[in-house]
Amino acid sequence: MDAVSDHHIDGKQIAAQLRANIASEVSELKDVTGEVPGLAIILVGDDPASRVYVANKHRQTVETGMKSLEFRLSEQTTQAELVALIERLNEDHSVHGILVQLPLPAQTEAEAVINAIAVEKDVDGFHVLNAGRLATGLASLVPCTPLGTVMLLKDRLGDLSGLHAVVVGRSNIVGKPLSQLLLAENCTVTVAHSHSRNLPDICRSADILVAAVGRPELIRGDWIKPGAVVIDVGINRLSDRDGVRLVGDVATSEAGHAAAITPVPGGVGPMTIACLLSNTLQAFRRSLAPAAS
Ligand code: NAD
Repeated sequence: MDAVSDHHIDGKQIAAQLRANIASEVSELKDVTGEVPGLAIILVGDDPASRVYVANKHRQTVETGMKSLEFRLSEQTTQAELVALIERLNEDHSVHGILVQLPLPAQTEAEAVINAIAVEKDVDGFHVLNAGRLATGLASLVPCTPLGTVMLLKDRLGDLSGLHAVVVGRSNIVGKPLSQLLLAENCTVTVAHSHSRNLPDICRSADILVAAVGRPELIRGDWIKPGAVVIDVGINRLSDRDGVRLVGDVATSEAGHAAAITPVPGGVGPMTIACLLSNTLQAFRRSLAPAAS
């Protein structure tokens, strides 16, 4: 970390640095192999937030010198059609990463769709084999938001060993994989969720507090231990007279006594996309030297 005594953790800047590193590695690999990593992004339906996410992923993929293929499918797409597309992309040697933007429409079962992706192309890290590999400490493609969260923490704190990390939220895409990554960093990990009792007290015991809930400003200032590092993963859209604004799961204005906190937007969000690109580069590298992976 630079000598930033800044209270805010600048996810935008750290993500920009990561993307710059990825771009230079892509360029070096292109010189050697004549190929670039390819990422296929599949969007089913018209969810406005998903469209924005997919557009950002596409733009940043291209900006780092990779190939981006976008597939926009209608809301009525059947599971069989979606799986057939994925199977075609599994066989395509110019595609190294496949991402299906969630949520999917009701007629498709997300788990079956995700598990149809070839495990070595599962750059979101949601395939059951990647989840199992992460849980058992084997090399795997790791979900992007948890990976970005740990990068932000290490950038700020260096060694995380022995710190008490409280993760609020236990979803398969954020809370659970994050708790496993933090265990691998030798943190003492507590996972809290909607059934936890005394959530404020649990949070007050955290050196590292991560909120991944989806409830605007659930975590109040007096739930935060002085000097804790707080990562706010939540993205909540609030509409008021001034239009739509994004807020996190933490009441940031009450968190002045935290050592550092991520803003929403501009904290974890940019890291999520940068880590997707990093996973795509990793999948490409492994495709070049499968025996070494
Ligand atoms: P989810 O709905 O799948 O899981 C929410 C979790 O919060 C659950 O485990 C639930 O038990 C817990 N929870 C709900 N209410 C609670 C309460 N009152 N007290 C304690 N725990 C409670 O959500 P998710 O997919 O894990 O996403 C969580 C948030 O993170 C959302 O706001 C989402 O938009 C955001 N998110 C951000 C990024 C990013 O890139 N920044 C990526 C993924 C998700």
